[in-house]
Amino acid sequence: MKKIKKKIAVYYNKLVELGLNIGSEGNISFRDEKTIFITPSGVDSSKLNENKIAEVDFNGRVKNKIKASSELFMHLFIYRERPDVKAIVHCHSEWASIVSCQRLKIPAFHYMVAEFGGVDIKCAKYSTFGTKKLAFNVLDALKLRNGCLISNHGQLTLGNSIEDALHLAISLEKLSKQFFFCNLTEKLKLLNKNEMNKVLKLFKNYKSKH
Ligand code: 13P
Ligand code: ZN
Repeated sequence: MKKIKKKIAVYYNKLVELGLNIGSEGNISFRDEKTIFITPSGVDSSKLNENKIAEVDFNGRVKNKIKASSELFMHLFIYRERPDVKAIVHCHSEWASIVSCQRLKIPAFHYMVAEFGGVDIKCAKYSTFGTKKLAFNVLDALKLRNGCLISNHGQLTLGNSIEDALHLAISLEKLSKQFFFCNLTEKLKLLNKNEMNKVLKLFKNYKSKH
């Protein structure tokens, strides 16, 4: 338990080191059986340590008197709906936020979009941060996907581990930047469904080998 809390604190700091968040932006959680470990609300990454990570049950009850992230609903709803997910990373990275402010989904402009599970990466509808409405919107955008943009806000990624979810957060940031620039030109050519389905099939084997 202490180990996982320490890991969450280390990775929360890593998000800042990687330039994906500043201060107390974003949040990270990890599910262990029926307990969710999640970063606290409003705590600057430099002040975070394993003693400040909240422990929450599946009903959303905090078990250790720490004020859990304001986005607890978002994390909770995902774990309830998606038993395959063990870790969630939410950040306000620059390029993902820029595309999220345009409220655009990322289409199949690059084959690596398939890493997120389908032919596009959705952008969740806008709602105020920390609300159940936003949590439902995010859940909706994550159908058959491992990540999404969040309108006028940022991005969220899922994984079997915190490392996997962080990898996707970095990947989504990169794809967002590439898409932003490609989308400025009229020369952008999208991959069709047939081509993307080939990649999705290849990714199943490619991923299982790692
Ligand atoms: P918390 O500090 O409450 O986790 O909020 C940060 C955030 O990103 C809200 O969307
Ligand atoms: Zn946020």
